[in-house]
Amino acid sequence: MSIDDGPGGPIYRRMAIIGGGLIGSSMMRAARASGAAREIAVADASEAHLARLQALEIADLVTADPAVAAADADLLVLAVPVRAMGEALAAAASGLKSGATITDVGSVKGAVAEALAAVAPKDVFVVPGHPVAGTEQSGPDAGFATLFENRWTILTPQRRLDQPYQAAVERLTDFWMRLGARVELMDEKHHDLVLAVTSHLPHLIAYNIVGTAADLEEVTRGEVMKYSAGGFRDFTRIAASDPVMWRDVFLSNRDAVLEILGRFTEDLQALSRAIRWGEGEKLQALFTRTRSIRLGIVQAGQESAEPNFGRDRR
Ligand code: NAP
Repeated sequence: MSIDDGPGGPIYRRMAIIGGGLIGSSMMRAARASGAAREIAVADASEAHLARLQALEIADLVTADPAVAAADADLLVLAVPVRAMGEALAAAASGLKSGATITDVGSVKGAVAEALAAVAPKDVFVVPGHPVAGTEQSGPDAGFATLFENRWTILTPQRRLDQPYQAAVERLTDFWMRLGARVELMDEKHHDLVLAVTSHLPHLIAYNIVGTAADLEEVTRGEVMKYSAGGFRDFTRIAASDPVMWRDVFLSNRDAVLEILGRFTEDLQALSRAIRWGEGEKLQALFTRTRSIRLGIVQAGQESAEPNFGRDRR
């Protein structure tokens, strides 16, 4: 739905982004390319990133001041690390106009929803969100316009049934769809549990396995690096993800991650038992099941079917 230019026109007159890194700058590029926002303003805490955002020419206004970026915006997007969300909104709030929509892109929703509700002005619509799309890179140069295409964005609206709020949720849904995303609405607690399984635990395992291998580097005389194609390399890609972002994710989604980690540890114990007692059929049954999960993800269009993610052709 467009504001005033008919179908295909901008969905928001002015979008302000606080945090022009991987996700923020990808949203700016996608909103430009699709015409989803007529004007784009961005604020960032990093001077180096501000200079890059200026040079990339993906925003109409680049500033260090969140309130200046937020002035007159009808959509404010917070794209900073999870534990900086409340502070970023507080810094932008004085510039916000009545009736603006505030969203975020944080990978954890319960803690962020609470932080935003605590500092949001009364006359705005807060609709937390999470684009389930990204890479292991950070900063404005890492972003690209097609990042959200065919990926899911999860919105976790507040429990408000009034019509203006529902209209704000619908408009934000239209916006994300214009950026190429598919949109799902979800309760924030459920989001945090699901993402603990699909994203947070895999990152924790990758950080752990790469850390363990690095500790063993002396024992293996450098052979961890040399033979990294044997599975380890895929873990190193995930374990290269932004340290501040992931520190915040684990501290903010503590309960769900610990719950899933408990299940994971039990299952790992069962696997180590199966190996110890030579229970080959148990191992094979699990590996057959997991292979079909991979095929399901490919069929759902969320992954390439090519061997080794198509890397060998590049
Ligand atoms: P990023 O590339 O590091 O970008 C974040 C930017 O925000 C940086 O330029 C950072 O500057 C700046 N910043 C930090 N605190 C700020 C503040 N208080 N005010 C203004 N600017 C501030 O990170 P990202 O990967 O885009 O992640 C941003 C958010 O998206 C996180 O909440 C993350 O959970 C979520 N997310 C990430 C992914 C992913 O794959 N990366 C996917 C989905 C969602 P400094 O570098 O100087 O701190």
